[in-house]
Amino acid sequence: MTKKMKAAVVVEFGKPLEIRELDIPSPGAGQILVKTEACGVCHTDLHAANGDWPLKPTPPFTPGHEGIGLVTEIGEGVTSVKVGDRVGVPWLYSACGHCEFCLSAYEPVCPDAEFGGYTKDGGFAEYIIADPNYVAHVPAGLSAIQAAPIICAGITTYKGIKETEAKPGQWIAISGCGGLGHLAIQYAKAMGLKVCAVDIDEGKLKHATEVGADAVVNAKTQNAAEAVKEITGGGAHGVLITAPSLPAFEQGVNMTRKHGTCALVGLPPGEFPTPLFDVVANCITIKGSFVGNRKDMAEALDFAAQGKVKADVELQPLTAINDIFERLENGKVPSRVVIDFTL
Ligand code: NAD
Ligand code: ZN
Ligand code: ZN
Repeated sequence: MTKKMKAAVVVEFGKPLEIRELDIPSPGAGQILVKTEACGVCHTDLHAANGDWPLKPTPPFTPGHEGIGLVTEIGEGVTSVKVGDRVGVPWLYSACGHCEFCLSAYEPVCPDAEFGGYTKDGGFAEYIIADPNYVAHVPAGLSAIQAAPIICAGITTYKGIKETEAKPGQWIAISGCGGLGHLAIQYAKAMGLKVCAVDIDEGKLKHATEVGADAVVNAKTQNAAEAVKEITGGGAHGVLITAPSLPAFEQGVNMTRKHGTCALVGLPPGEFPTPLFDVVANCITIKGSFVGNRKDMAEALDFAAQGKVKADVELQPLTAINDIFERLENGKVPSRVVIDFTL
C-alpha cells in the first residue's frame, strides 16, 4: 500500500485550505524526494491561494516555497545531491538552463521556469518532490527552521538590495517590515547601508529598530516620502518595496533620491500611478526584482549561517495554516511563521 502524507491543499481560490491525506510521491528520473522539516509561510502563498495574479496556479495544489528538509530518496541519474542532505525547495523550482536568461544568471525569468508551491506542489506537505539542480543547499550549522525564511524572504531581499545598487554608507529605505522586510533590514546593515524602515504598523517599526534600522517612518501617520527625504537628506539612494500594498509603491518612487533606484518586490495585484516627470527629470530607475539565482541563494544562506541575519520565527503546526493565513492577511504576523513538522 502507498504510504500517505499530510498536505495543506488549495482546493478553490479564496477558500480555506484543506488538510488532506495524499500519497507520498515517488521521485522520477532526475528528481528527489524531500522529507519536510520546516516551511515558512510567505505572503506569496496567500496571493497564490487567492488567485491574485494574472498567472494563476491550478487548484488543487499545495503551496509553500520555503520548505526545508532532508533528502530521503533520489531518482535515477541524480548525482548532485545524496540521501541525507538538507535542502530547500524554493520558489524557483526549476528553469530550462539554456535560454538567454538562464545563461545570464537571471534564471527566475526563464520562460520555462516552474514555481514551487505554485506550478509545482510545495512545502505545506510532509514530503516534496524537487529538482536537485535548483534546490537550496543548507549550510551546516543552520537549522531547518532558520533556513526556511531565507530561501524566499532572505534571497529576495538580499537580491533586491543588490539591484538598487546602493553602496556602503548610503541610505536604503525598506518599505514593509514584515517577513521580507525584517530580513531586508538585516541584510542591508550587513552590507554596510544605512536603513530607513517604513511600515504602517508601530509594532513592526519597533521591531525594525530592534533588528537594526537607523530610522523609522510610519506611512500611516506621516507623509512617508517627505519623511524619508528629510531623514536621508534628499531621498534614499536605494528603495526596496516589500509591502503588499499599492500606495507603498507610489510613495517608494517618491522617496527615491535623484539618480537612485527603486526596486519593486511586493506583489499586490494591480497598478500604481507613476509621477512621470519626476522619474524622468530626476533620472530615477524603477526596477522589478524577482527572487534571485542560485548564487544569490548560496550567498543569502551564508549570511544566515554566519549569524549576520536571523529570521524571527513563530512556530506553528501545519494544521494551523488557515489561522496563519488570516493573521498574515490582517498584518497580525510579527515577522515570519514557520511550519514546524515536528509539531
Ligand atoms: P508580510 O505580510 O509578512 O509583510 C508585509 C509588511 O508590509 C507588513 O509589515 C505590513 O505592515 C507592511 N505594509 C502594509 N502596507 C504597507 C504600506 N502601505 N506601507 C508600508 N508597509 C506596509 O509579507 P511578506 O511575506 O514580507 O511579503 C511581502 C510581499 O512581497 C508580498 O506581496 C509577496 O507576494 C511579495 N514577494 C515578492 C517576492 C519577489 O520575488 N518579488 C518574493 C517574496 C515575496
Ligand atoms: Zn515567498
Ligand atoms: Zn531558461
